[in-house]
Amino acid sequence: MTITYRSDIRVQPLRTSAMDFDVVQAARVSTLGADAVTSDGSTEGLINFLMRDKHGSPFEHNSMTFLIEAPIFVAREWMRHRVGWSYNEESARYRELKPVFYVPAEDRNLRQVGKAGAYRFEPGTQLQKNIVRDVIREGYRHSWNSYQVMLRAGIAREVARGVLPVGIYTSFFVTCNARSLMHFLSLRTTSELAKAPSFPQREIEMAAEQMEAHFAEQMPLTYAAFNRHGRVAP
Ligand SMILES: Cc1cc2nc3c(=O)[nH]c(=O)nc-3n(C[C@H](O)[C@H](O)[C@H](O)COP(=O)(O)OP(=O)(O)OC[C@H]3O[C@@H](n4cnc5c(N)ncnc54)[C@H](O)[C@@H]3O)c2cc1C
Repeated sequence: MTITYRSDIRVQPLRTSAMDFDVVQAARVSTLGADAVTSDGSTEGLINFLMRDKHGSPFEHNSMTFLIEAPIFVAREWMRHRVGWSYNEESARYRELKPVFYVPAEDRNLRQVGKAGAYRFEPGTQLQKNIVRDVIREGYRHSWNSYQVMLRAGIAREVARGVLPVGIYTSFFVTCNARSLMHFLSLRTTSELAKAPSFPQREIEMAAEQMEAHFAEQMPLTYAAFNRHGRVAP
């Protein structure tokens, strides 16, 4: 099988049921009871108030499902987000993995500067870029070959997978809601609008940026309020 190298993180929206009005309706049940369903009135003002004063639960009555293709190290970081997230991932026990591996793009910063908790990353030299390109590919080829040797010898997939690196691609479904997504964005993106600094690894940030674009399109007023109040999840 030919080895494929990729530098992208794929985020494909599959199903979305998420509107600003969902937030407003959920909040209004508190003062209108069942009449909240047929109510109207200011959407923007109420969303802004809920975000500002951290009334978070009305932001949970919506759903966004995505298919993600990313290296395993991104999936590992992602699945640390436990609250308001559902996951299903492909299995390396039940199927043979495909030889698709992550190689950083040419413009990916390579040098880590600063101290733990506040690192910044700077471009690599041409020599460093060449080393990354060649050494990563060589490592992948070697481990893929070891995986194949074991499978051909009749060794179970769940044992053979032990030699595969975290740079191999996996695929998984994620479902979240606006509240859990905002918390994820606050930690996994960098933005000048953020009240608290965040230092995400670039690859999960590449995914988060795509989720953010989808969220902004589906729930523009909620998204605007999130930015207005410092990108802190309510
Ligand atoms: C830049 C960066 C570096 C990181 N480095 C490391 C690292 O070196 N090692 C490491 O292990 N992790 C690391 N993490 C993961 C981090 O510790 C969190 O697990 C991850 O960001 C998910 O955040 P969360 O727990 O707030 O989210 P969720 O799990 O989605 O939880 C959401 C919120 O629910 C509440 N909550 C959830 N579970 C509990 C609980 N058990 N008790 C009380 N309240 C709870 C909290 O208010 C929490 O903020 C890193 C994350 C980032 C963004």
